[in-house]
Amino acid sequence: MKKLVLLGASGSIGRQTVDIVLQHPDQFEIISFGVGKNIQAAREYLKLFPSITSFCVQKESDAKMLQNEYPEHEILYGDEGMVELVRKDNYDLLVNALVGFAGFRPTYEAIHAHHDVALANKETLVCGGSLINRALQETGCHLYPIDSEHSAIWQALQGNSMEQVRNLWITCSGGSFRSLSRQQLKDVTVEQALAHPNWSMGDKITIDSATLMNKGFEVMEAHWLFGIDYDHIKVVMHPESVIHSAVEYVDHSIMAQMGAPDMRLPIQYALTAPDRYPFQQDHPLDLCTLGTLHFDTPDTERFPLLRVAFETGKKGGNLGAVLNGANEVANAAFRKGEIPFLMIEETILATLDAAQFKELETPEDLYEADAWSKSFAQEYINTNKENK
Ligand code: MG
Repeated sequence: MKKLVLLGASGSIGRQTVDIVLQHPDQFEIISFGVGKNIQAAREYLKLFPSITSFCVQKESDAKMLQNEYPEHEILYGDEGMVELVRKDNYDLLVNALVGFAGFRPTYEAIHAHHDVALANKETLVCGGSLINRALQETGCHLYPIDSEHSAIWQALQGNSMEQVRNLWITCSGGSFRSLSRQQLKDVTVEQALAHPNWSMGDKITIDSATLMNKGFEVMEAHWLFGIDYDHIKVVMHPESVIHSAVEYVDHSIMAQMGAPDMRLPIQYALTAPDRYPFQQDHPLDLCTLGTLHFDTPDTERFPLLRVAFETGKKGGNLGAVLNGANEVANAAFRKGEIPFLMIEETILATLDAAQFKELETPEDLYEADAWSKSFAQEYINTNKENK
């Protein structure tokens, strides 16, 4: 029985993780979780899993209210509460399904407390990849990717070693606006952006998919996860989202992983690897009815943030955190209807332009870069949004 801590439990990946745990009740049990502001989800999980002994919510007032309802449980709150949960030694694996930079610290603290982490939070590596890899080296712990692309690469690497790899190929559906021109991108709405053609995901990441920022983040994640140079990471457009990514070996043989676009598959693999468990899926891939698959070069003129991610990743230091911080602010402003779609990239470029490069020595360097970037980006939006 593997004991899990699940952070971001009420989000899209969190709920799908719960689904996997319910499919294998004799293999996994959730012993604690974090749900942010969704206290209804907390009640639901406490009913579902008698194994739960402690959990964390965002607000102190919610924690106090729930403590009256659940006097037997340990109820924590805020960022410090999450850190306290992951530092405990009562579990085997942290599943980090938090969204945004908030996911970094729990990953970092869990590794330092000698826990393996199944990671869906991509900002952890985009911002602090060097710090995370140092922590993994110091502790001998493992990081298991949940992102479908990195799970595909990980699966395609089984039985081989990174020394034999020439390139990693990350596939990209292109998001909601893959066929639109720059002119058309000026007027797109939040609703249009949230209608992803293939994947059902949370709002923030669906917008990141539409700008290709998400794909850029995945390039940076791949660099840290697999220890590969940016020049050997390739992105290929593949609108069907059937091939989830691939590994090209030194002999030019390419191993790809295929499957229906269903996040529960990479989630389950992160919990069971290198074993494979049965998985109940309504529409598994049928090769006979699949038809044609398409591949193309990404257009970084229309979607410059993919190129920006490569450039930022190569420069390293604190710039990943700067890129991410500006994106979090601009993404949220677009979702709130405060800025047009193309002002997301404009804000990010302006913030990167103004940033001061600094090497990352400690998590504090990272928090500083994140705070500076978010405040600069917000200021930029406040000053310039009226002209749009
Ligand atoms: Mg992905």
